[in-house]
Amino acid sequence: MSDCLFCKIIAGEIPSKKVYEDDLCYAFYDISPMAPTHFLVVPKAHFASAAEVTEENAPVVGHIYAVIAELAKEMGFSDGYRVVTNVGELAGQTVHHIHFHVLSGKQLGSFN
Ligand code: AMP
Ligand code: ZN
Repeated sequence: MSDCLFCKIIAGEIPSKKVYEDDLCYAFYDISPMAPTHFLVVPKAHFASAAEVTEENAPVVGHIYAVIAELAKEMGFSDGYRVVTNVGELAGQTVHHIHFHVLSGKQLGSFN
């Protein structure tokens, strides 16, 4: 999608600090971290949010969770982390390319 920030990051048109990349997904550090470890994982194929997950595109969501579990071991935060995906304005979604926040490195608060 030509006017999508995260599509531009995936394409290398906007710089990012890469954590991981494969054929299906791209992970990069959040520009405004909310925890000592805070990165985002996005599918390379654009869709807006978890509200647009279908039987067809669902496999990439499972793949992303598997990648996160592997990164947690490799990066040393498998003792505890949070995966969050915001859907829509009420949840605070600001970039409309589905992304999974991975947060770790501190005691994370409860939801409100
Ligand atoms: P959300 O509010 O769930 O849509 O999350 C969007 C996230 O993208 C926020 O945590 C932002 O800090 C992050 N973000 C915005 N622009 C960039 C960028 N250029 N590089 C890395 N992270 C970004
Ligand atoms: Zn996109």
